[in-house]
Amino acid sequence: MDAIPLTDEQEAEAQQLMQRIQEESRADILALARLLVSKRESEIFGETEFQARDVVHRVAAKAFEVHLREKKNGYRGSGIVCVHCQQAAEFQGYRKKEPVSLVGQVLCQRAYYYCHRCGTGSFPWDEAVGLTPKRLTPAAEQVASMAGVVCNSFAEAADNVLHTMAGLRLCESTVQRTAEDAGKRLGQLLADGKTLDFPHPWDWHRDAQGRTCAYVSVDATGVRQQAEDGGPAEGRMPYVAMVYNPVPDLPDDSPFHPSPKATMKARYLAGLYELDELGVLLRKQAGQVGMDRAEQWIGLTDGGNGLENFVRTNFPRDVVLILDFWHASEYLLELAKAVHPDDENARQALHKQWCHIMKHEGGQTIRTHLEQFPIPPRKPAARGKLSETLTYFKNNLHRMDYPTYLANGWLIGSGAVESACKTVVGQRLKLAGMRWREDGTDTICHLRALFKSEPRQWQAFWQRSIN
Ligand SMILES: [Zn+2]
Repeated sequence: MDAIPLTDEQEAEAQQLMQRIQEESRADILALARLLVSKRESEIFGETEFQARDVVHRVAAKAFEVHLREKKNGYRGSGIVCVHCQQAAEFQGYRKKEPVSLVGQVLCQRAYYYCHRCGTGSFPWDEAVGLTPKRLTPAAEQVASMAGVVCNSFAEAADNVLHTMAGLRLCESTVQRTAEDAGKRLGQLLADGKTLDFPHPWDWHRDAQGRTCAYVSVDATGVRQQAEDGGPAEGRMPYVAMVYNPVPDLPDDSPFHPSPKATMKARYLAGLYELDELGVLLRKQAGQVGMDRAEQWIGLTDGGNGLENFVRTNFPRDVVLILDFWHASEYLLELAKAVHPDDENARQALHKQWCHIMKHEGGQTIRTHLEQFPIPPRKPAARGKLSETLTYFKNNLHRMDYPTYLANGWLIGSGAVESACKTVVGQRLKLAGMRWREDGTDTICHLRALFKSEPRQWQAFWQRSIN
C-alpha cells in the first residue's frame, strides 16, 4: 500500500486506532503464534495457511469494527426526510448489523430512522456504504458475483470455490441472488444509457490495403427454461452482440501486420433483448471503443432472422455485410448429403469441391454451378435441398463475395460471435441438465458478457466508475 497523505489530526486518529486494534487483536495474534509453533516442518504451510488467513481476516474485521465504533454510521441529526413520503423520519437510536465483508463478518451499529407517517424505517448508512439486500459489502458482492458467473453453478461457487479461495462462507441462494442482482443493476445502467469507465479508443488493425477495420456481429443462442412449478418451459433465445478488433489474416509479406503480441479485443452484450434495444446499446459500446475512427466497418452474421438488418440499421456507414462462410458451407454439406446419402467419401469430396468454388470464386459462381448440377430424377430429396440452397444463396448473394473479402484480409467466418455464444452464454447457462428462469437468464447473461469483455469493464462496474 502506498503511503496515504494524512492531516495531522488524521495521523493522530490513526495512531490511536492502531493502539486499539493491537489491544483487541492480541488474543487472535497470540493464537496465530501458538498455531505456528505447534507445527512440524512439513505442516508449516498448507492447512496452516488457511488457518492463518482466517486469523488475518479476523484482525482486519476487528479493525473495521473498532474504527466504526467511533463513527456516526448514518446519523444525520434527529430527523431526516423520509425517502418514501418526504415527511420527517425520526432518529430512533442505533441498531446492530453484521455485514459480510471480504474479511468476514463485521459487527457494527448504525443509525435508524423511522417515519411515523408511512411506517417506513431506514438506515442511511447501509445505502451509503453499498450493502446488498443480503448484507454483503461491495467487495464481498463482487467476489460472490464473480464466482457465481464463472463457476459451473451457484452451489459450486458457494460450497467450494468462495470458501477455499476467499475464505467466504455464503449459501448457494445468497450467491445466486447477489450475482443476479448485480446483473440486473448492470442491465439497468446500460439501459439508462450509462457507460462504464471513460472511452478508450482501440488501435484498429489494418487490412491488406492498409485500412483500419472494425467488426460487429450478433447471434442468438437457445437457453432451456424452467416453469414456475420447476418443470420445463419453452426455451428462450438470448442475443449475443459484439464489437471487436480481431487480428486480421494477412499474407506473410503484408506491411500491415499488427504486432505479434496483438490479440482480439472485444466488447460483448448479452441478454433477453429485443434487437432494436440491443442496437442502441451496441452503438454505445462501439462509440466507447472509437469505432468511428476505423476506416472500414464490417458486419458478420449468419442467416438468422433479422441479424443482417440489425447490422445494416445500426451501423449504416458503408458497412460491408458478410454472410458467415461456415453457415453457407452447412447448406452445401446438407445438399451433398442428399446427393450422396450412402457414400461418405463422395459426399465429402463434393462438399470440399463446392466450398472451394464458393470461397475462391464467390457466391454467384457457386450458384450458377449448382443450378447446372445434374441431380438424378430419382432423388427428390436432393432436388428439394437444391432448391432450398439456391433460394438461400440468392437471398444472400450480396454478402457472399468471399474472394474479395479474403483478398482484403477480412474475416469471413462469424467464429468470434459463435465462440462468444459459447463462452458468454453456453459455458454457464447451457450445461447438462440446466434450466433457467427468465430473470436469471437475462441478468447472468449481462454479467457474463461484462466479465468476458476487456477486463477494465468489469473493474469499472465494481468501482462504480459510471458515466
Ligand atoms: Zn414516510
